[in-house]
Amino acid sequence: MSKKALIIGGGPAGCASVHKLNEIGGWNITLVDNANQLGAGVRTHYYGGHPYTFGPRHFITKNIEIYNYLNSIVPLRDCGDHQFLSYVEQDNNFYNFPIHMDDVRSMPDSDKILSELENASGVEHAKDFEEYWIRSIGPTLYKKIIKNYTEKMWQVSNANQIDTFKWSPKGVKIQEGPRAAFHDTLMSAYPIAKDGYNKFFDSIVDKCSVKLKTNIQSFDIPNKSVYIDDEKYTYDLIISTISPDILFNNCLGELPYIGRDIHLMVFPSEFVFPDHVYFLYYANKEKHTRLVEYKKFTQHVDKNSLIGMEVPSKNGRHYPVPMKEQMLIAREYHKLMPDGVFSLGRAGSYRYLVDIDDCIEQAFELKRIVKEGFENHHPVPIEKWQKIDDINPNLK
Ligand SMILES: Cc1cc2nc3c(=O)[nH]c(=O)nc-3n(C[C@H](O)[C@H](O)[C@H](O)COP(=O)(O)OP(=O)(O)OC[C@H]3O[C@@H](n4cnc5c(N)ncnc54)[C@H](O)[C@@H]3O)c2cc1C
Repeated sequence: MSKKALIIGGGPAGCASVHKLNEIGGWNITLVDNANQLGAGVRTHYYGGHPYTFGPRHFITKNIEIYNYLNSIVPLRDCGDHQFLSYVEQDNNFYNFPIHMDDVRSMPDSDKILSELENASGVEHAKDFEEYWIRSIGPTLYKKIIKNYTEKMWQVSNANQIDTFKWSPKGVKIQEGPRAAFHDTLMSAYPIAKDGYNKFFDSIVDKCSVKLKTNIQSFDIPNKSVYIDDEKYTYDLIISTISPDILFNNCLGELPYIGRDIHLMVFPSEFVFPDHVYFLYYANKEKHTRLVEYKKFTQHVDKNSLIGMEVPSKNGRHYPVPMKEQMLIAREYHKLMPDGVFSLGRAGSYRYLVDIDDCIEQAFELKRIVKEGFENHHPVPIEKWQKIDDINPNLK
């Protein structure tokens, strides 16, 4: 007789988990999502015929197995050399991000910055995000490009409140010589199909029972049960991809997240950003963090171009905050989960660093664990994603 599995959430982590469980066989799977479609923010929608997702969602990975897996379901195309530019108001200039020495030399205050760069040291002793960057690139460059961006991104009054930083290696090493492609050590790709990743999400539908627009009234996680429409359902396996505090009625406190508003704007021009530039970052006091020109990824052909602008907000639980205290609370929630309950994905792991590829990788790992027998598999969730001590070894 098949065993029963419940997947909560139909984003990349939930859908990949359905696939991977089906590959094992013998599982009767139900997926529940309170939205009316699968895919969450990675789902492609249309504005004036222009395909877009909720913010950019290109596929970046180092893992060829994960790339091949996704590519076999939604064929991918390489994104090529896509560049990021960061606007610095005080210089009225766009600079490359990651920061490049050629840009530094062209800055009005380059002498000061170069001398600070020479004296920058001791990054291994950094205790917070701000120290990490100042010890890497000096205070002037940090204030110019990193500080304001970080404070609005994480909605904090001072970036020194961020006490983890290993998730932010993007620009710490200043590039010199030929400008390296942003993801020179990674594969960066986007689905070729106009509807992006949608087939990935929708193709699982015939292999499990999908309940959309469905709210779970309450959870009894120790007994692997949930209540839907006053009915109790009990499972052998629960894979949750939603925030772990929800599963336990916030008993250890509500985990904080940063939300996002996306503003869509069509411009009367085939392309708006320069060639190869896919993102513009704004490192000042303006409210938006970045702009994306969608057609650079989607290769949509049109006389106009759709730009998406991201503004941090309280809407949605999109970004788990990279603060150790909160991550430790998330870990306490994870410890409350019995054998056979896994918490995956970005919110499920409560890790900012969990991207689309990581969600899929977690589902691969889940398959391995379930196949081997998940009894006594602790800690839950998958250990690899929960080693938070490696985030900041200087904080205990
Ligand atoms: C603006 C933005 C841009 C990003 N850009 C990129 C990028 O370019 N590349 C990249 O790799 N990653 C990117 N990411 C991160 C990546 O997209 C996410 O890590 C990934 O989509 C998370 O997938 P998930 O399955 O964990 O969660 P989600 O995709 O959030 O799925 C969770 C699902 O659970 C459902 N749900 C929530 N609560 C409940 C409930 N109580 N009951 C039932 N269902 C519920 C939701 O409707 C949703 O469908 C971006 C993230 C954001 C916010």
